[in-house]
Amino acid sequence: CGIVGILGKAPVTDRLVESLKRLEYRGYDSAGIAVLSDGKLERRRAPGKLKELELVLAAEPLDGMAGIGHTRWATHGQPTKANAHPHMTHRVALVHNGIIENFRTLKDDMIAAGMVFESETDTEVVASLMTHYLDEGATPLEAFTKTLGKLEGAFALCVLVNGEENLMFGARRGSPLVIGYGEGENYVGSDATALASLSNRLIYLEEGDYATLSRETVQVFDEDGTPVSRPTTISQVAA
Ligand code: GLU
Repeated sequence: CGIVGILGKAPVTDRLVESLKRLEYRGYDSAGIAVLSDGKLERRRAPGKLKELELVLAAEPLDGMAGIGHTRWATHGQPTKANAHPHMTHRVALVHNGIIENFRTLKDDMIAAGMVFESETDTEVVASLMTHYLDEGATPLEAFTKTLGKLEGAFALCVLVNGEENLMFGARRGSPLVIGYGEGENYVGSDATALASLSNRLIYLEEGDYATLSRETVQVFDEDGTPVSRPTTISQVAA
């Protein structure tokens, strides 16, 4: 239900949780974060309130300079730890708002091809598809856009790729997503509120847009894959 992503120059775990707290007003039933720690994806998740996630993080801290976080409002699958986001494979970690309408068909195809699933969510097929394309040799951006091409429904996505310390993807189709500019850092969030303590210089992705971020750059593409420039707005939401 809420998304945040940080490509930071300082550890991101505490800031991800802080941003997720700002998204609590939307309602949620579970939460989680994933970070790249020494180039490797790691995650912590917990059903229930953010307090539960904070307890998990206190017991098993996560250290990394790139990370994504999520508060989930379950649509497909119970609010369990296994269904909580981020969803992760050996290649990617991702968070998703909304619904992948054609997930059943995609999932059945991938199961037939021998892929294994660990959750009941519609979201996990997105991670599996992107993993499939990466394993076939696609670049991260190719794998992401090929995956987007297969999805039907309304969604916002934020993605990290294993081994890619300076890369994050975002996409918006039917669910809003904003990008925030920082100093040597960049951010992704569900809305200006999510990013209020991080940045007030925002780009609102338009319907069908996707974006690739590094700490230094943001490139937005429209749904046809054409690079586009979207206006930067100054958020009035109080930090
Ligand atoms: N459909 C996804 C799920 O059930 C995402 C729900 C959300 O937007 O939080 O996990």
